[in-house]
Amino acid sequence: MEKSDKILSELRKIFNKPKCELVFENNFQLICAVVLSAQCTDKRVNLTTPKLFERYPTPKDLANAKREDVIEIIRPCGFFNNKSKSLISLSKSLVEKFDGEVPNDYDSLVSLAGVGRKTANVVLAVGFGQDAIAVDTHVFRVSNRLGIKSKNVLECEEKLQKLFNKKDWSELHYLLVLFGRYHCKAIKPKCENCKFLDICTFHKIK
Ligand code: SF4
Repeated sequence: MEKSDKILSELRKIFNKPKCELVFENNFQLICAVVLSAQCTDKRVNLTTPKLFERYPTPKDLANAKREDVIEIIRPCGFFNNKSKSLISLSKSLVEKFDGEVPNDYDSLVSLAGVGRKTANVVLAVGFGQDAIAVDTHVFRVSNRLGIKSKNVLECEEKLQKLFNKKDWSELHYLLVLFGRYHCKAIKPKCENCKFLDICTFHKIK
């Protein structure tokens, strides 16, 4: 069995129909939640966003928000100075350039403040159902441990795109995120009985 097939089939046995753990009702809420999730757990973001979206339900509302008020709400998510700046600026751009709608193409998404490659790919995959692989810290770490070696997230994304069928990209993202979050953790991964012991490069060098 090819390595890519093994990775997909074993991960599918562990996680049935994986999906994004962020809670959102529309793509504006999704993009805000993904911005907040940098260096923060989805659980904490989900505890924070209800208040944010209740107070600022639309891009226009958030574009006109006072920064200190936004900081007060998002403080638990950390990096609140940068994140508040990004949320307000990206909302302004949505209003001014995109009619208040979250755009559905990569170049427009990364033109928004605080939106990088990973956030854009999550929005494309989760919000618009497009085939995209978002490489976050979990995807990067797990891929490298599984022998898909890369020096940076862009190289990792390109290697995953080559190895896996396009139709599986979004699902693969979730599978690797969940595997990294709950099994192949950065510190003390649960290696006992791991189905990837034969291909894992990390375990062998421990
Ligand atoms: S053996 Fe350990 S380090 Fe390797 S993939 Fe499994 S959990 Fe991760």
